[in-house]
Amino acid sequence: MCQRLTPPTLSSLAAAGGWRWRCLLPLFFLPLVLLLSACTPSEYQLSTRYQSANQNERIAFLILHYTDEDDANSLRLLTEQEHKVSAHYLIPRDSHETPFTVYQLVPDNARAWHAGRSRWHQYAGLNASSLGIEIVNLGYPPEDESLPPDARRWQPYTPQQIAAVGALSRELVARYQIPPTQVLGHSDVAPKRKQDPGPHFPWRQLYLTYGVGAWPDEGRVAELLASPLPDWDAAMWQQQLARYGYGLPRSGQWDEQSRAVMGAFQLHFRSSKVDSKPDRECQAILMALLEKYFP
Ligand SMILES: [Zn+2]
Repeated sequence: MCQRLTPPTLSSLAAAGGWRWRCLLPLFFLPLVLLLSACTPSEYQLSTRYQSANQNERIAFLILHYTDEDDANSLRLLTEQEHKVSAHYLIPRDSHETPFTVYQLVPDNARAWHAGRSRWHQYAGLNASSLGIEIVNLGYPPEDESLPPDARRWQPYTPQQIAAVGALSRELVARYQIPPTQVLGHSDVAPKRKQDPGPHFPWRQLYLTYGVGAWPDEGRVAELLASPLPDWDAAMWQQQLARYGYGLPRSGQWDEQSRAVMGAFQLHFRSSKVDSKPDRECQAILMALLEKYFP
């Protein structure tokens, strides 16, 4: 006996377990769909045939900090989400490894959160345009808070930390062509809020040994000190400090911001006396710096 073959109906397929086929059907077409979309012409093509001369490196600053915490806490604060702070590099303190380990916590091309409200020349909010290096250091004991900065017991840096900061900074400055006057302390760019990396940070050694950062010609400073200096009033001090880069409006009044900036300048360039008051030595240093870097 011969049986007539008829096409299956939906109901007969469902009855025979054909629902599985219907679910799997799109999978058979998937490779074809992908193939067709790959062949679809793009809406545009990108050409790098013309390059503008008008561009510069996004990273313009190297900013140095101390963490105010020990190794373990520094690492925790700078990496855990809830603390909302970070830096590109962390220089630990009690590392006995050879070579000395430096932690890169944020890639150079990403924005780390280390500078906060900050200013230098026309730049504001320097997280966007800087790299940050945090150095593990406890700063000074809390009970010294009321003392003038140069009377506080600041923790010294270790020679290994300084060697690591020097070598790393030299590499970063060369890689991103960071100008000497834009290698700065957190205190330089946020003078009212910050004092790190503090008076023990060896800016002079960084300049002389590693060629990093700005430092005045010491012969020129001595020469200026031996001669009569122009009489600068508050407005003139403000103008000259701002010319170097400090965020200081020319109010003509020796106000809180002026004192804070003067203190930051001393922390960086004349750390033996940090009293936030203008004096002849600071004037000679500032004049020598301006002659050298902003003639
Ligand atoms: Zn800082």
